[in-house]
Parts: sequence; C-alpha cells; structure tokens
Amino acid sequence: MTTADVRGIAIPTGHLIGGAWVSSPETFETRSPMDWGTVLAEVSRGDAATADAAVAAAQDGFTGWSAFTPAERAEVLRRLADLIEEHNDDIALIETIDMGFRHESMRERLVARGAVNFRTYADIIERGGEAGEAEQWDAKNTQHTVLRMPAGAAVVITPWNAPFMLATWKLAPALASGNSVIFKPAEWSPLTAAMLAELTTQAGFPPGAFNLVQGIGAEVGAALVADDRVRRISFTGSPETARHIGKAAAENLVPFTAELGGKGPLMVFADADLDLAVKRAAEQYEDSGQVCLAGTRLLVEESIADEFRARLEAATAAHVLGDPLDDDTSIAPVVHPDHLDNIDGFVRRAEAAGDNVVRGGHKVDGSMHFELTLIEPASNDSEIVQREVFGPVLTIQTFAGEAEAIELANSTSYGLSALIFTRSRDRAERVGRGVRAGIIWVNTFLVRDLEAPFGGAGLSGIGREGGRYALEFHSDLKTLIIADGTTTDP
Ligand code: NAD
Repeated sequence: MTTADVRGIAIPTGHLIGGAWVSSPETFETRSPMDWGTVLAEVSRGDAATADAAVAAAQDGFTGWSAFTPAERAEVLRRLADLIEEHNDDIALIETIDMGFRHESMRERLVARGAVNFRTYADIIERGGEAGEAEQWDAKNTQHTVLRMPAGAAVVITPWNAPFMLATWKLAPALASGNSVIFKPAEWSPLTAAMLAELTTQAGFPPGAFNLVQGIGAEVGAALVADDRVRRISFTGSPETARHIGKAAAENLVPFTAELGGKGPLMVFADADLDLAVKRAAEQYEDSGQVCLAGTRLLVEESIADEFRARLEAATAAHVLGDPLDDDTSIAPVVHPDHLDNIDGFVRRAEAAGDNVVRGGHKVDGSMHFELTLIEPASNDSEIVQREVFGPVLTIQTFAGEAEAIELANSTSYGLSALIFTRSRDRAERVGRGVRAGIIWVNTFLVRDLEAPFGGAGLSGIGREGGRYALEFHSDLKTLIIADGTTTDP
C-alpha cells in the first residue's frame, strides 16, 4: 500500500478495490489551499481499467454484503461510526489541510456528523425501515407481501466541499440498503476519502462491499457511470456534471440522484428579529461561501433595508479571513486557484454589466481568500443573481410585501434552500409554502433531522436523500404473492 505522510499521518494514496489497496502508475497532485504550492500527496489517477476492476469487485462484494441481515449490517455501520469518532481529530486535521474549511467546524461538527450519518442508518434498518412494507392484501386467497431488495453495485460521486461529511451522508444509506459501493471523491480534496476507506477495512465489511476509486471526474468518474453493471448512481456536484452523468444513466437505464447547486434566497421581513437575521446573513460568507445551501441572495423588505445594510456591514467587517487551523479565523480560504479565478470572473462580469459592487470584489493578495463581497444587481436578470458563484459573494435586493418577496425568491432556475426571517408564524407558513425549494429554514439555518428528506428542485437536483428516501432510491420493491392452496387460477 502506498501512503503519503501528511503531518505525521499516513494516508493511503491508492484505490481500495475488493478489499486490497492498489495503485495506478499515473498520479495527480493534491495541494493545500492553506499553503498553495505544497504538494500534500501524489494520488493514484484511476482510468477505465481501474473503473472496470472496481465495478467487478463491487459486484462480487454485493453478493456477500446483501446477504447480511439488517442487524448484521447495522453492527458493521456502528463499528464504522465508532472508528470515525476515534479518528475524529486526524480526519478533521487532514480535511482542513486538504480542503481548507475551518478546523474548528471540522473538529466539532462535520466529522462527528459523519459518524452520526452511519449510526442513523444503522438505527433505521434495524427497526425495519429498509425492508418490506408491512402491507399485505388478500386477493383470491393469496397473501401479498411487499419486500425491498437492494439494487446492486452503486456508484457514489462527491464534490470537493465538506467532502468527508457529504460522502458519509451518501454512503451510509447506500451501504445500509445492502448495496455495495464504488466511491469516487473529488480530485481537489481526496485525502479523507482514503482515511474513510481504511476505516471500512477495520469495520468488518466483506471485501468488495466498499470500494474507493481515486482520479479525475472526466476520466475514471465517466468510466464508472458508463458501466452497465452499475445499478445506482448517487451524485453530488454541479449541474454541468449531472448532465453528463444523466446521459450515461439514461443509456443504461439506471436510476440516479443528483444533489446540485443552489442560489438560495435569504428573506428578511420588517417584523424579523433583526439581530438574528443579520447574524445569519453574515454567516453565509463562512467557508468562503462554498456551501450549496447558502442563502446568497439577500432579499430585504424596503422599510428596514437601510438599517439591515448598516448592521450587515458591521457583522461582515467583524469576520476574520485567515488560517483555517486558527480558531479565531471565521472565513476559510477558497479551495483552489482555479476556483478563485471562477469567483473573480463572476464579479468582473457583474461590474462590466453595471451591477454595483458595494463591498469587496477582489482576490486578497498573497492568500487564497476572496474579499467578502456584496453586490447590488442592476436587475434581477443579472448573472450574479441568476447563477451560483460558490464563493463569498452575496447580492442584496429589496422587496415590498410578501408577494414580491416570493416572486423574487422563485425567480432563478435553482430550488435547493431558502431562509426566511419573520416573527409571524402565519407569514412563515404562507411564505414557506410559496417558496419553491427543497428545504426552507425559518429563523434558523442548517438544522435538519437526518430522517427528513433533502434535495432540490429545478437545477438544484433530482431525487431526495435523507432517512427512508435514500433507502428507497437504493432498492427495488418486489411483491411476493403466495397462494394458500384454495386459490383458483385467475
Ligand atoms: P463537479 O460537478 O465539478 O464535480 C463533482 C464530482 O463529479 C467530482 O468527484 C468530479 O470528479 C466528478 N466528475 C466530474 N466530471 C465527471 C464525469 N464526466 N463523470 C463522472 N464524474 C465526474 O462539482 P464540484 O465543483 O466538485 O462541486 C461544486 C458543486 O457541487 C456546486 O455546484 C455545489 O453547489 C454542488 N454541491 C451540491 C450539494 C448538494 O447537496 N446539493 C452539496 C455540495 C456541493
């Protein structure tokens, strides 16, 4: 097994296929956004042959893993959760160094959530949530039983932001359902995926139940999704990649889910708790806005707009852009120089189109940060309003009344998340029902019971994850009809 030494932690750099670590002759570099230039590891660059071997191994692994009872599967998932907790500090450190998100949130929240994801699905399948619906009918003295069967080998492809937490969220239901998986993490942040794969070898999965393939999306990722032995594809990333994957899935008639980008509205009504609304609005800059759920379009009721702006400026100015390992830092760096250029391109085009950059708007010299940026768009049709930037760039617009607020909220092609700030319960219900988004938070942000559905409408995705919804995706129903001996032929 080839490994890289990152801060004294040995991390496998190959693929985990059929229970064994294998390396590719070609590699790609992963570098740290904290210190761009330092190569953290040379990681195996999988190709079509790697994908072929991984899918074959997952098919073999499926036979063993799907034969485990739900209780046996739950035991393995819980062991994996325990191992994640034991290695929390190492995973959090590597996640920060490889991807750049703040160490404090990795250490205290996101890695721990990975363990919770596996435990939640262990609980669900143990209480029978994964298996047969209990419905039984009696037609012509037959007993009908509806059962669920795992689908087979599932490909799970993830993006570079919060990679460990996002991967566990998708892998837990795939594995809990009895599917084997081939996991392909993003090439900009591949290291904690390797740490997770190593823990699965200790948790007790049979060989081939969990496979990891490293490499470039357009290469090994494309080969995986084109393989006709794959029975499910679970994807999180950009709409552009989802289109490629959707075509491959259509070719093989394979169900796929796509969790995609967002352009969430953050709506502040005049009756809102303004301290809370401003605090949450300024939080949308955290992690340099590299969060699909972020409410990046601030929509503020006209009568409080001036006060809101002044308070938002004070809260934004209090942010600290810095080293993500330092707990005083509140804004993480941007993941990659190419992505800094993407963000910069959006702001330059906005300026050229006549949008008003009222704050920030530039790369920060000598670092991987982009200034916290606020833009007043010239029009609601501006690109900066209509397209996901995935950086620390918010827009601000005003509205008069609920109807206009809802119209603006629903005016993009996305529909992932929305935030509403109001003290009125009735307004919360009305506006919440009027806004088109997969998840809507009123006077809060990011809280979600893991059994609740998660996903987006429009360009934000296809399908739902979370709780039983993900288990349904990863399995097929069958109806078992048994005659009792007195049944006459139909
Ligand atoms: P991306 O689409 O570029 O890449 C995502 C993954 O797809 C990577 O692992 C990549 O290697 C792989 N990939 C690329 N081309 C492929 C191909 N042709 N076939 C198979 N796989 C391929 O996205 P990204 O830049 O890594 O992530 C950012 C995007 O992800 C943003 O749009 C963000 O909003 C979205 N996102 C959505 C959610 C959500 O839950 N809705 C969560 C996080 C991120």
